[in-house]
Amino acid sequence: HADTAMYAAKREGRGNFQFFSPAMNAAAHEHLLLESRMWNTLEREAFEVHLQAQVELATGRVIGAELLLRWHDDELGTVEPSRFIPIAEESGLILPLGDWVLARAMQLLAEWQANGLGALRLAVNLSARQVAGEALLERLDALLAQHRIDPSRLELEITETAAMRDPETTRALLRQLRDRGFKLAIDDFGTGYSSLAYLKLFSIDRIKIDRGFVQDIETNPNDAVIVAATIALAHSLGLTVVAEGVETEAQYGFLRDKRGDEAQGFLFARPMPVPEFAEFIRTRAQPVPGS
Ligand code: C2E
Ligand code: MG
Ligand code: MG
Ligand code: MG
Repeated sequence: HADTAMYAAKREGRGNFQFFSPAMNAAAHEHLLLESRMWNTLEREAFEVHLQAQVELATGRVIGAELLLRWHDDELGTVEPSRFIPIAEESGLILPLGDWVLARAMQLLAEWQANGLGALRLAVNLSARQVAGEALLERLDALLAQHRIDPSRLELEITETAAMRDPETTRALLRQLRDRGFKLAIDDFGTGYSSLAYLKLFSIDRIKIDRGFVQDIETNPNDAVIVAATIALAHSLGLTVVAEGVETEAQYGFLRDKRGDEAQGFLFARPMPVPEFAEFIRTRAQPVPGS
């Protein structure tokens, strides 16, 4: 109805009314519903995080994890990040939500350091709005002062699309983050349209090769060439490489052959609740998988 249409028109930043087809109206309604349920969940601190192991290719050892948001809503059921993150991003809710994620990450790192797991690295996703905003550095400084963790154990993941919205601002931010000792990774590498130019512009530590390239390594010769070349390029620039979405032994073998550094994927571990991950680490002193 009218409220929804006006809200959507404002959100589009056009300051005028738009006509909605029934389908568009339904989409706008869904958008608003998700947004209000997300605020509710955030206020109750009822979002959850899962951890997905990252494995060193040469040894099979777990060297860290990526933190992934999970949302189960009483009314909506389980909602996938691919559905709620874009809405959180568009509405600005991603800023307080991202703050909560960063606090949760620092808390986890502090726990790991207290429990003999201080060598593990934790990777966290930053959204485009967090990267563009002013508050990120202040927020991280406050959290560092509060938790006294080793900043080199926290890796901040930025997609190339987010990084390239305003390359000069990103460049300055990444430099400041690096000065504080945080690690920086480019996420979903190869899916943007400016993959190579910024590698020398930005001070980063690692690139994460997008799952889309990894999944067809065995069947698509072009993808195999792209992955091998990306590893070589990264290494010649002094960067390390994480391959995302490794699901098969053949993909694992290929990446090892090409001297990839690390991998993440269902072959090694699915994203899992925090207590399960602690258990996984304890029982996984041995290389994974297979042996
Ligand atoms: P991402 O950062 O690229 O995270 C990797 C995604 O790939 C995760 O999806 C993970 O569950 C999935 N994945 C890992 N290994 C495999 C595999 O072997 N096969 C397949 N098919 N998938 C695999 P998830 O958890 O659904 O998250 C999707 C995206 O949502 C993330 O992509 C990230 O962009 C975003 N996201 C998740 N958590 C956060 C967060 O805390 N903040 C922000 N800003 N974005 C987040
Ligand atoms: Mg998913
Ligand atoms: Mg990521
Ligand atoms: Mg990714």
